[in-house]
Amino acid sequence: MFLNTNFPKAKKYWYEGKFRDWSEGGLHPMMHALHYGTCVFEGIRAYSTAKGPVVFRLPEHNDRFLLSAGVAKMKCPYTKDEITGFIKQTVRANELDSCYIRPLLFYSYGNLGLVPKACPVELAIGAWEWGAYLGENAARGVSAYIVPWRRVHHTQFNMSAKLGGVYVQSTIAGLEAREQGFDEAIFLNMEGRVAEGPGQNVFIVKGGTLVTNGRLESALEGITRTSILELGQDLGYKTVVGPITKQDLFGADEAFYCGTAVEVIPIVTVTDGSDPTMPKTLHSIGSGKPGPVALRLIQAFGDAVSGRNPRYEKWLTYVAK
Ligand code: PMP
Repeated sequence: MFLNTNFPKAKKYWYEGKFRDWSEGGLHPMMHALHYGTCVFEGIRAYSTAKGPVVFRLPEHNDRFLLSAGVAKMKCPYTKDEITGFIKQTVRANELDSCYIRPLLFYSYGNLGLVPKACPVELAIGAWEWGAYLGENAARGVSAYIVPWRRVHHTQFNMSAKLGGVYVQSTIAGLEAREQGFDEAIFLNMEGRVAEGPGQNVFIVKGGTLVTNGRLESALEGITRTSILELGQDLGYKTVVGPITKQDLFGADEAFYCGTAVEVIPIVTVTDGSDPTMPKTLHSIGSGKPGPVALRLIQAFGDAVSGRNPRYEKWLTYVAK
């Protein structure tokens, strides 16, 4: 029996073609994914609009989901169109207007050698109401902590995939940042430059230019990041995709995280804990308060996802259709 205390308004989850009550479990503890993180997942949001709930950039999320499956050498038993249908059904079955959606594809029960030769690939989809990822106060700006561990390098693994096992590094970095008293972590890459947050991309603003990094800096090229680049350009800002050094970050006029879960959240301080042999240093970003560019982008992003700006209707998939 599972309570949905931390999954508000979750009623049912989709599992291999059927809906189950949220409180129902029943997967075998010897399934492959539980032991080795051999699963791939997506994090997607649906938003309430005047014309009913919409999923934000669903085709792009599903493309990445199938890319991740390919990286994990999984034969996904479903097509992109089928997954799109199951996701919409899951939002409808939970009667949610806005929610977070989690599709998970995993090597299930079969064998426990590292090579999952007898494990079927199974799909589960959950949807629940998930508010502000970093808490309701995060809109006022968050404190970031540069953790001592460098992000898995893009030459070590395909970091464009969302593979469960790789997220162990993110989980531990997130725990470490909070244990040290900060809101969220930032990873440097092997080159010593900014990579990303545990589940977010990082942007800086300098002299009215928006800067974020990409795959070659060992960052996932997030869907929110791509949307913010487009929104920023449409608002008349210059945008640059390229490396961000620690000094660029500390000396920025503004910085923010972006991602599906976090949406757009200003970073107002960064504490450098990247070298465990040195004392930590605290850097206030710009005025130490959310800056005008971030605030404008938050507004523009909110308008886009809620269907209030027809220009970005192209990003919305109506759940009812
Ligand atoms: N980086 C990492 C490591 C992530 O897990 C995520 C969340 N998917 C992001 C960046 C942001 O990506 P998106 O905007 O597509 O959610």
